Amino acid sequence: MTNDHDKSLILVAGGAGFIGSHLCAELLDRGEQVVCLDNLQTSNLANLHGLEGRAGFEFVRGDIVEALPASILERAHRFKQIYNCACAASPPQYQVDPEHTMLTNVVGTDRLLRLAADAGARFLLTSTSEVYGDPEMHPQREEYRGWVSCTGPRACYDEGKRAAEALTYDFCRTGRAEVRVARIFNTYGPHMHFDDGRVVSNLIVQALSGKPLTLYGDGSQTRSFCYVSDLVRGLVLLMNSDITGMEPVNLGNPHEITVGELAERVAEFIGEDVAIEYHPLPTDDPRRRKPDIGRARELLGWEPRVPLAEGLERTCAWFARAMDVAMPDTVPLEAAAE
Ligand code: UDP
Repeated sequence: MTNDHDKSLILVAGGAGFIGSHLCAELLDRGEQVVCLDNLQTSNLANLHGLEGRAGFEFVRGDIVEALPASILERAHRFKQIYNCACAASPPQYQVDPEHTMLTNVVGTDRLLRLAADAGARFLLTSTSEVYGDPEMHPQREEYRGWVSCTGPRACYDEGKRAAEALTYDFCRTGRAEVRVARIFNTYGPHMHFDDGRVVSNLIVQALSGKPLTLYGDGSQTRSFCYVSDLVRGLVLLMNSDITGMEPVNLGNPHEITVGELAERVAEFIGEDVAIEYHPLPTDDPRRRKPDIGRARELLGWEPRVPLAEGLERTCAWFARAMDVAMPDTVPLEAAAE
C-alpha cells in the first residue's frame, strides 16, 4: 500500500483501449501502480479482465473532455507519470463524432497537461503518423511537417493530434511540464476491436467468418504494421528516457507492405479460399506510409522485434478465440495464449 505522500502512481488515460490496455499490463508487470482512466467510448472493459484484481491496478471511468474525475484530481500530487492514450483511433470510429475526437485531443490533452504541471509528473502524448497526412516524404522522418487536409473527414483526428502536439510542446517550452511525444504508426494485435474498421481487424474477422475480404481502392496503398508488444516497449522506453523531450519520436515497424499483400497473408493464415471484395478508397486515404525509426534507434535503442508473420499468427489466434470460432489448423494453439 502507498501512503498519501507517495509519488508512485502512473495514470494511463485511454487505458482500456487497444494500446492502453497492453500498456497498463506492461507497467503492472514492471511493478508499477497504475490508474487507468477511460470513458469506454470505443474501448472495452474486457481488455482489462486480466488486470482487474491485480495489485496496483485501479480503473476509473471518465471522459477527459468533460472533466477529470475528482478521485484523480484529489491525488494529483501522487502521479509521477501520465500517458495520454485517450482517443478513438480508427478512421470510421473517430469520424462518428468528429467534434468529440477534436476535443479529446485538444481539451482532453490540455486537462492532462495541467494535471501533469500541478503534479510535477512527466507527460507522454501518443501522437500519430497521421500528423504526416498523405506524405510527400517517404519514409516519414520526424522533421517532415506533413501534408494534411484541414477540411477533410480525417482532419478531426489529424489536426486534433497536431494541436495536441503543439499544446504539449508549449507546456514543455514554458517549463510547466516534462513531456515526451510518440508518433505511433499502424499497430495491431490482440484487443483490437472486432468492428473498429481498421484493416488488420477487418481482414481477420472477415476471414474467420468466411466472408470476403474488403480491399479499399485497388489494395496497392502501403502501410507498415507494428505488433503491439513492440510498440508498448517503445512507449515505456520513451517515457523513461533522458531525452530533452522537444523531439517527437516515430514508433512503428518499417516493414512496408501493400494492403493487398496483407490480405494475402491473412488468407494464408486462416487457410481458407477467401474472396476479395473491392470498395472505393476513402477520402484522403494516405497512399504510402512507412516510419523512419532512426531517431528511436539512436535515442532509445529501440526497434521492433516481432516479424509480421509471427504477429499476425498471434493476432489471428486471439481473434479466433475471442470470436469462439474453430482455430484454423494453420495457427498453433500456444499463439492464442495472450
Ligand atoms: N482498408 C482496406 N480494407 C479495410 C479497411 C481498411 O483496404 O477493410 C485500407 C484503408 O483504406 C487504408 C489501409 O487499409 O488504406 C489502412 O487502413 P486503417 O483504417 O487500418 O488505418 P489508417 O492507416 O488508414 O489509419
